[in-house]
Amino acid sequence: MTHYETRTPAELPEQIRHYIDGEFVDSADGATFDVISPVTNETYIQASAGSSADIDRAVAAAQRTFDAGTWSQALPRERSRVLHKIADVVETRGDRLAELESFDTGLPITQALGQARRAAENFRFFADLIVAQHDNAFKVPGRQANYVNRKPIGVAGLITPWNTPFMLESWKLAPAIATGNSVVLKPAEFTPLSAGLWAGIFEEAGLPAGVFNLVNGMGEDAGDALVKHPEVPLISFTGESSTGQLIFANSAPHLKGLSMELGGKSPAIVFADADMETAINATVFGVFSLNGERCTAGSRILVERSIYDEFVERYAAQTKRVKVGLPHEPATEVGALVHPEHFDKVMSYVEKGKEEARLVAGGGRPEGFETGNFVAPTVFADVSPDASIFQDEIFGPVVAITPFDTEEEALKLANNTKYGLAAYVWTNDLKRSHNFAQAVEAGMVWLNSNNVRDLRTPFGGVKASGLGHEGGYRSIDFYTDQQAVHINL
Ligand code: NAD
Repeated sequence: MTHYETRTPAELPEQIRHYIDGEFVDSADGATFDVISPVTNETYIQASAGSSADIDRAVAAAQRTFDAGTWSQALPRERSRVLHKIADVVETRGDRLAELESFDTGLPITQALGQARRAAENFRFFADLIVAQHDNAFKVPGRQANYVNRKPIGVAGLITPWNTPFMLESWKLAPAIATGNSVVLKPAEFTPLSAGLWAGIFEEAGLPAGVFNLVNGMGEDAGDALVKHPEVPLISFTGESSTGQLIFANSAPHLKGLSMELGGKSPAIVFADADMETAINATVFGVFSLNGERCTAGSRILVERSIYDEFVERYAAQTKRVKVGLPHEPATEVGALVHPEHFDKVMSYVEKGKEEARLVAGGGRPEGFETGNFVAPTVFADVSPDASIFQDEIFGPVVAITPFDTEEEALKLANNTKYGLAAYVWTNDLKRSHNFAQAVEAGMVWLNSNNVRDLRTPFGGVKASGLGHEGGYRSIDFYTDQQAVHINL
């Protein structure tokens, strides 16, 4: 059995604890759960396992702070200053954050570093947006004036997944707090390490105690209690579509405001007139970066038949050059998957794929990695649209390639899943690219480009990939009420 040299970060806390009303606390019943290293699959720390009693306590603290008004009624400029400070502190702690995140999630260290920068940018962006915010006012001369009062809603429940956890938490925390709400965050149980950093960051930046509260634990315990809590009118959730469905149902009795960022099985469509070299580089990156554990991964590649054989051959060759390694090593491009349960799921699809399609790269553990959650970047060609590896979100370094003959067929294939998060189109035909973007069922489309986005644009999916959009003013809209005031003149 291989024994890897793991690099445990210095000065880990003794235990991962909740953070409520400005203090680290244990669960009311003292319960904990094991957190494991994705490289060794050994338990490296215990985390407090929250139950409804801990959620009650966190919601009460958040509500008290909201009612006190120190934060909820502060001027946008005052809140903005604190948010900018938060961004500054996140930036100065980027190396530490990346070290913890890579250790806890198995992400390559170089890619974890980018996540810290993005987290800081999310805070800076909303710090600027709330002072630039303007709302509608209308006047009917001699009759009526009307204006909009924008108000924070109260306690927002934030539930996040284990892929790029710190960055995805920032994506919800920044707009929720910027608009004056208090929050209770329930991070994913596979990767709770980095969420605890927020406490110190927020304290240093001067956020009043009780605005940010954190309860760790299982989805079905702590997460469920947060969703069902009557004093939490908003739930922003990112995770699997099936969990989203359950949360929908559980929120229904309270008619909660919901934002749902769910799963994906996004197509990358490569036409014969595309720059093949660029398309190959981008689509290799698009599915194998972040270990393939990326909601917007281009995990189905549809290729026009006239270039299909050459594309598959070159794609497979390029995939074989992707470097699998220990997450902390700077040369690593694909690290360890987050957890043995997830590893088993991904491996089960690799095995299914061998029956459903033609394996052209990877197909199991990479050489030299007999233990830990390592999967060789895997490419299947000639994948039929009814294959499970074409339809299901695998959420690992596995890609399905399928040929098409016409633009109509490409569109039909692209839309042939229950998901609709992202789509990537590679063609030098300007008209075709825009028309295809219009027709494809995806919340976000990238034309001849990869995953980079302006933070002002909407983010979210259609069909089973989500409901509602976050990003820019849409996040502000989600976390606030817009009250209309009408005045007779
Ligand atoms: P998951 O649905 O298993 O868990 C997400 C979170 O929900 C965790 O914190 C979990 O504890 C909690 N949870 C689970 N059951 C719950 C319940 N009954 N009530 C309340 N909370 C509950 O998802 P995951 O496996 O952690 O994350 C991977 C998934 O997230 C993938 O499907 C991926 O596509 C999706 N994702 C989507 C986006 C996006 O923006 N669309 C971004 C990242 C990840």
